[in-house]
Amino acid sequence: MQTILVVDDDKSIHRLLAVQLMDQQVELRSVYTGDDGLKTAIADSPDLILLDIDLPGIDGFEVCRGLKSNPATNRIPVLFLTGYCSSERRISGLNLGAVDYITKPFDPAELMARIGASLRTKRLVDLLEHKALVDGLTELWNRTYFDHRLHQEETRTSRQPLVNSCIMLDIDHFKSINDRFGHPFGDLVLRGVGAVLVAGCRNEDSACRYGGDEFAILLPGVDATAAAVLAERLRSTIANLDFVCQGEAVKVMCSFGVADTDGTDIDSLTARADAALYEAKRQGRNRLHPAAPEPTLQASSTAGTY
Ligand code: GH3
Ligand code: MG
Repeated sequence: MQTILVVDDDKSIHRLLAVQLMDQQVELRSVYTGDDGLKTAIADSPDLILLDIDLPGIDGFEVCRGLKSNPATNRIPVLFLTGYCSSERRISGLNLGAVDYITKPFDPAELMARIGASLRTKRLVDLLEHKALVDGLTELWNRTYFDHRLHQEETRTSRQPLVNSCIMLDIDHFKSINDRFGHPFGDLVLRGVGAVLVAGCRNEDSACRYGGDEFAILLPGVDATAAAVLAERLRSTIANLDFVCQGEAVKVMCSFGVADTDGTDIDSLTARADAALYEAKRQGRNRLHPAAPEPTLQASSTAGTY
């Protein structure tokens, strides 16, 4: 359900909106000052903010500036709902990044129509943003999302030292599978491998299609020993599956590289896991290989287990 945050010191506006939106599929949050508006926007990440300009403390323009300059809130649409009707104010409000500017007194039906239009656009933008981060074939996260998560972990661990692990895996001789059974079957194998990864991971892990027949899993708060336990479980689950092509059972094997950040920088995590994967391939495939230790940094760790 989409949520609307109403920032207005006039209680009658909150009451009117509650009545008007009663039978709509939206959740309403009410605050009465600009400061509370900013705090609630950060905490709740609503889908639309209805913002008065004349507020106690910081005014609506200042709130809008604050929202638009914060990456956590800058994509939330803002609709000014105000008694100020001069063209100059309208232009200022829209130039600050608001999607709409409605003056009081307003026609409730028109306000509902404009709220509906803003929420439809927001839903579409959310959908496009999600699609840009998901691999269309396997429905796993894609490489862009993986890099973004890695960056988030980097920021988090700069505040609170934490071991992160990365598992890289690649299907063995996948080209031969495509050549022998056809690309549609190869696609089915990619989707099947992806499904095993998702089923084997915790909610906080990110299983991604890194590209082609290579996958990466980011495991926050897990050391390489625990990550290797998971990797081995994934390897044997995949190896024991029968992928069936026109009645023929086809076996699929994968090679795995595992690395953690203990004593190293998160920047090199995927490169080290990838090098370990290459070593697993070199040593005969259908196996996992740990990354070589690289004792450059000293990080204290809180690592989970599988
Ligand atoms: P190795 O054991 O060394 O990993 O050998 P490999 O054959 O798996 O590796 P290679 O990189 O030669 O082949 C990967 C193949 O994956 C080649 C490419 O055509 C295929 N591929 C990449 N993306 C897709 C896809 O979306 N669907 C299908 N069916 N095949 C894909
Ligand atoms: Mg391969």
